[in-house]
Amino acid sequence: MMPYFSDQFANAASSTHLQGKQAAGAVEESRLRIANCINCEPNEIIFTSGSTESINLAISGVAEIYKSKGNHIITWATEHKAVLESCARLQEKGFEISVLPVNRDGLPDLDILKNCLSKETILVCVMMANNETGTLMPVREIADIAHSHGALVFCDATQAPGKMRINVQDAGADLLCISSHKMYGPKGCGALFLRRKNPRVKITPLIVGGGHENGLRSGTLNVPAIVGMGKAALLCAEKYWEDTSHFSEMRTLLEQILTTNGRGYVNGSIKNRVPNTTNICFPGIKASELISKISTLSMATGSACSSALPEPSHVLKAMGLSDAECYSSVRLSVGRFTTREEIMLAVDLLAKAIDSLRKKLTL
Ligand code: PLP
Repeated sequence: MMPYFSDQFANAASSTHLQGKQAAGAVEESRLRIANCINCEPNEIIFTSGSTESINLAISGVAEIYKSKGNHIITWATEHKAVLESCARLQEKGFEISVLPVNRDGLPDLDILKNCLSKETILVCVMMANNETGTLMPVREIADIAHSHGALVFCDATQAPGKMRINVQDAGADLLCISSHKMYGPKGCGALFLRRKNPRVKITPLIVGGGHENGLRSGTLNVPAIVGMGKAALLCAEKYWEDTSHFSEMRTLLEQILTTNGRGYVNGSIKNRVPNTTNICFPGIKASELISKISTLSMATGSACSSALPEPSHVLKAMGLSDAECYSSVRLSVGRFTTREEIMLAVDLLAKAIDSLRKKLTL
């Protein structure tokens, strides 16, 4: 990224000079790397400021274009707020929104989906991996059902890169988003995949202006961030096996110790999830107190985007956890650079803090 902040600072849209062309070349190389990472064509990638923007663009963009075909959109209660709020906004404009339930594992009932689909349904929005629990949704099965009713499928795959292979063809997604900062790239950069063939999907832009990104997302491109995202995507693909086996090993170690002796239990599906995330309930303990007791450990109660809000996690609530269980749950994740020593230290800090908070309760 560094040269594109300083020596090569030209605007990628300035095609009248060499520096501009070089910047555009760097953007196109990144586009290719990102397309390779999700198995699509480079011209099916639109650069955005991140998944929140991609989600808003995908949902409102499809709704606007296809509203003459129908006004019904389906999603699930465990989706990210960017999806739920985009849908809620459309509901205010007269669209019919169905927010479907999940079971205790965070998984959907596909019969409910089948019964909900109608000829009015234009879009089904489903995430690939949940950001709070790591639970994997059956995207392919959902896409097959949605397509058989003539609806398009948007997949929020923000949590997936580097933790599982993403293949837009296998997933059956018509639109799909990823975010740079979930794969060690810079924050504030993302990509939206928009299928151009079988079917050719159309959207209306959210941001209009100079006509960048084929007129679908105007605004001068953030060249250093795009270059960083492209490199991050390349590294994720190269390090896939090494990373995923490391994540599994570190998370198993973390969970094994934290869930022994009835200290805690894992929320959500144990089988169907990405290998880096865990969400653990420590009954009787307030997660907020646990977090403030251990300032050296980075953990959260809900999604990072909304952890300042005092409400219980909407994801855990949708899975049927009580308020008390939600307030006793923490989300932990391991990464490429997490060491065994760090896990042992984290476990030690957590176990001591949990035991002392429990002792306080019984006094
Ligand atoms: N969707 C999911 C599943 C996420 O985890 C996040 C962010 O954490 C987003 C969407 C929003 O992404 P961004 O931060 O790139 O706007």
